[in-house]
Amino acid sequence: MIFKPRRQTVTANIGGVPVGSSAPIVVQSMTNTDTADPASTAAQVITLAGAGSQLVRITVNTDEAAAAVPEIAARVADAGVVVPIIGDFHYNGHLLLVKHPDCAKTLAKYRINPGNVGAKRRDENFQTIVKVAVDQGKPVRIGVNWGSLDQQLLTEMMDENAGQSQPLDAKDVYMEAMIESALRSASLAEETGLAHDRLVISAKISQVQDLLDCYRRLASRCDYPLHLGLTEAGLGMKGIVATTAALSLILAEGIGDTIRVSLTPRPGGDRTEEVLVAQQVLQSLGLRSFAPQVSACPGCGRTTSTFFQKMAEDIQEYLRTQMPIWRERHPGVEEMKVAVMGCVVNGPGESKHADIGISLPGTFEEPKAPVYVDGALRVTLKGDNIVPEFLELLNNYVVGRYTRT
Ligand code: SF4
Repeated sequence: MIFKPRRQTVTANIGGVPVGSSAPIVVQSMTNTDTADPASTAAQVITLAGAGSQLVRITVNTDEAAAAVPEIAARVADAGVVVPIIGDFHYNGHLLLVKHPDCAKTLAKYRINPGNVGAKRRDENFQTIVKVAVDQGKPVRIGVNWGSLDQQLLTEMMDENAGQSQPLDAKDVYMEAMIESALRSASLAEETGLAHDRLVISAKISQVQDLLDCYRRLASRCDYPLHLGLTEAGLGMKGIVATTAALSLILAEGIGDTIRVSLTPRPGGDRTEEVLVAQQVLQSLGLRSFAPQVSACPGCGRTTSTFFQKMAEDIQEYLRTQMPIWRERHPGVEEMKVAVMGCVVNGPGESKHADIGISLPGTFEEPKAPVYVDGALRVTLKGDNIVPEFLELLNNYVVGRYTRT
């Protein structure tokens, strides 16, 4: 087996969504609206949940934002959407959660960054948040981030290391400080009264290899569920590739119970991209299924027209638009594999491996497209209506195979 078995953890209940090794890996996301604006924030929470985000985090950074949280949740519920909303706190969480009890009550989980709870009263402020969580019966994520690591702890550990006869290199100490910050905070939370199974831990870094190193260490030292993510992954293709590389390596080691893809959207860009990428990572690794997968060859000199690319795109789009209906009516359809291939070289072979596949005619081939269903040739399509005829076959296949009896 190439993948290691899933690391065993306790299970945390986040507003009804189980997070831990007994549950499927959870996809989550974060809004980028002004939380003080309940209309736009609720709209984005609804959009992210609609895309498949099982938990949605919002920043709670001001009195206005904290005051808006109950209205955001009410708007989401009024839209018929059920999704736990998590509050992200930095610097003033201890003040906001005490001053705004309705906010504390509404949120499904509090995320605390132990590097951002104050320097002088670090533990006191941290414990204030945890006490609210205990009183409200809420779980907490200890979210360490290397961009805001607890400097006091880091300095102490660097000094201690410098006094050793064989000191570690600075990077090792930094890594250990990340782990120590997370685990010390978790211990302090439990001492304050938070149950062991109400904690989730993360330690995010923006370099792929360091992230893997950090999570390996963290995973070997605790049984808390772990939240994975490459922090500050970046824009577009770079962000997607770096995130996929990082998450794949860690997930393949059986580590990780919930994931978020931290992409920087283009101005006015679609925030749901981070949800779709997270789903695609999990589905590509065979860890979860969210939507039917289309295998399409890249095309080459044998596909000189754009017909083939257009058809692959049309089928992908058709699957996307059908999924909200199919998900309800045809359970299991998310595991379906569809092939759209460009010519006879790999077309029939790949199509036979799919649940349903079509091998289009390449240049100089006879203008016909064999369709394979469950590995066998079902029909050969010809003429100008290949796409609608294939979609009809696809639809019939879904109805026939994935309808509840
Ligand atoms: S299947 Fe045919 S068209 Fe597609 S990449 Fe291979 S050779 Fe080219």
